[in-house]
Amino acid sequence: MINLKTIKVPERVLKIALEESKKTNIKKARLSALSIDKKFCVLFKTHNIKLIGRHNCFSIHAEHRLITKYRSDINTILVFRNVRHLFAADSRPCKRCMFLIREAGIKNVIFFENGFWYKGKVR
Ligand SMILES: [Zn+2]
Repeated sequence: MINLKTIKVPERVLKIALEESKKTNIKKARLSALSIDKKFCVLFKTHNIKLIGRHNCFSIHAEHRLITKYRSDINTILVFRNVRHLFAADSRPCKRCMFLIREAGIKNVIFFENGFWYKGKVR
C-alpha cells in the first residue's frame, strides 16, 4: 500500500461495519469488509467465518469473502475489526488478503490502526 492518509469514516458506515461484524461465528475476531464508493455509500458487505471440517477447521477472512462474492465491482474496501461490539480495532489486511486485494484489481484499502482510520492506494 502507498500514499497512506488518515481519513474520517462516517458514523453510519461504522455502524454498518459493526453490525456486519457481529454475524461472524468467530468470537475471538469479529471482522467485516465493506465495499464502498467515493461518497462512502456501502455497496457490499461480508464478515469472516470459521469453517469446521472433520479433521480441521479454518477461517475465511472477511476481505477474502468480499472479493470472492463481488470481485468485479470493488473499488475501495474497508476492513473493520470489532472489539466488544463497541469499538474499532486494528484491521490492516494480512499479507494473504493484500495479495487477493491486488489480484482482484481493488484500488483502495481503508483500515484502522493505532486509533486512526487510514486510506491507502493498492499497488
Ligand atoms: Zn486476511
